[in-house]
Amino acid sequence: MLKGRKGVILGVANKRSIAWAIARAAHEEGAELALTYANDRFKEGVEELGRSIHVKRFHPCDVGRDEEIAALADALKKDFGRLDFLVHAVAFAKKEELAGAFTDTSREGFHLAQDVSAYSLTALCRACRPLLEHPGEGRTASVLTLTYLGGQRVVPNYNVMGVAKAALEASVRYLASDLGPSRIRVNAISAGPIKTLSAAGVTNFSALLDTMPDRAPLRTNVTAEEVADAGVFLLSEKARGITGSILFVDAGYHVMGV
Ligand code: NAD
Repeated sequence: MLKGRKGVILGVANKRSIAWAIARAAHEEGAELALTYANDRFKEGVEELGRSIHVKRFHPCDVGRDEEIAALADALKKDFGRLDFLVHAVAFAKKEELAGAFTDTSREGFHLAQDVSAYSLTALCRACRPLLEHPGEGRTASVLTLTYLGGQRVVPNYNVMGVAKAALEASVRYLASDLGPSRIRVNAISAGPIKTLSAAGVTNFSALLDTMPDRAPLRTNVTAEEVADAGVFLLSEKARGITGSILFVDAGYHVMGV
């Protein structure tokens, strides 16, 4: 589905990362990939994972820094000359903001969550737009981000990240409108809860996992691989008519009222 396609994936931290599942699935479908790491702490681990699927291009990118986003776009231009897809699987909030009352959210914690988890998508789209635009070709380019139900409904302890995800989902719609005329699609997957490094920061996250087998229509938790397979679809030309959408990959949990 992605043969001959060139893409960058941001958000691999370790083997549990949703970004890593997407990287593996995209590789299996024939994509040529570049991976990024947030800082030196992750460099070695990301490179080791990437090499196992024959990735040759690795770049640092702290999405809170404009100069690192600009450097990434330059590096990708040198790597590939163009980009067919970009995966944004990045989020951050301080641990103390992911517990207790939302009312206690600090100004600084609010800004940080918005900056890293929501604004970064817009900054990346702006920097990579020249690479994603392929004037004169029939094909589309695809941008994919990851969101969670806590951006649409109240999920205890998700707090400031829920508000950041609401901003991220609105950004998907505005970016889809801006970039659609250039045949760049922008979509999000709203994933069910999956045990990852970021998820561990949400107080009582295990309660979300425990709820799924009882309440989700498919009576199970979702896996990162299920999210990745839907991701490959959205990155591919099979989804060429889809932009501005939030696709739920959550075993159907979001349709339930009680
Ligand atoms: P993860 O911890 O493996 O991935 C989060 C990534 O964000 C890490 O690679 C981390 O290095 C990166 N990151 C944090 N701050 C950054 C910065 N300033 N610059 C660059 N990168 C930075 O966890 P994950 O669960 O795979 O998260 C991926 C995405 O999926 C996130 O947007 C998350 O909110 C979303 N999501 C996760 C779940 C879940 O239950 N795990 C559910 C729905 C959506």
